[in-house]
Amino acid sequence: MFQCQECQRISKPREPSELVVVARHLHTFPARPQAHRYKQTEVRHRRGRVFRKEGKVAYKDDPGGVGYQIDREIRVCAQCVPKARARILKRELEDGQEEAGSGNT
Ligand SMILES: [Zn+2]
Repeated sequence: MFQCQECQRISKPREPSELVVVARHLHTFPARPQAHRYKQTEVRHRRGRVFRKEGKVAYKDDPGGVGYQIDREIRVCAQCVPKARARILKRELEDGQEEAGSGNT
């Protein structure tokens, strides 16, 4: 059981809830060289001989990049999911207009 954080209604027993992201921001993640450890499984053929590197520990780079980080989530009932999702879209559109407006001046 839970209380819907959108309509404040108390749910019935065993009624499923959903977590909806209502605030998020863009975050730039830095590149991290040799961040991912893994065991090699590749098989190489050279001059008719097979070289197995299976099980050998190697490292891969993490390229980094841009992604969303969650600021706030709310637990809502199934009826309130579209309403809660519309709120984040509306907020992001308003934020985008403010940024575009301040960029031009
Ligand atoms: Zn609700």
